[in-house]
Amino acid sequence: MALEEIAKKPSFKKGKIEDLEPWQKELVEAAKEARKHAVPPYSEYYVGAAVLAESGKIYQGANYESALYTPTVHAEMMAIDKAIFEGEREFKALACYVGEGPGVPCGLCRQKIYEAGDSMEVIGANEKGEIIITKIEDLLPFGFSAKHLGVDISKY
Ligand SMILES: [Zn+2]
Repeated sequence: MALEEIAKKPSFKKGKIEDLEPWQKELVEAAKEARKHAVPPYSEYYVGAAVLAESGKIYQGANYESALYTPTVHAEMMAIDKAIFEGEREFKALACYVGEGPGVPCGLCRQKIYEAGDSMEVIGANEKGEIIITKIEDLLPFGFSAKHLGVDISKY
């Protein structure tokens, strides 16, 4: 789905980092800081992410590329995996910070985010201070998750 289509959704907002609510700004700052830890020797596309768990804790991640490409870990994945490892199972929002562009997660990360929380807010931010806010259900309509398999992952 093109950004123009996503922009028509009621959850979509566009603006500047300084316009964010304090908790959103903190999440974007955590993603910005996380980007400094990226290891993208092949694409040189630096990405930082930060996910806010319902517990109030923020977990950061950065992309770490593999010479074989497939084992590459995306920033959003690393942030969510760190949170899951620490016992988190419910999430409020995820911020993704990039150099240029809207900072929207790729298709793989949309799936990962959707499975972590199908109503999660997603904030894309870049070095120009531009932001977009949307919902994962708008980035991944009709997404597939554990619910479709009748599984409650909170038990695990
Ligand atoms: Zn990704």
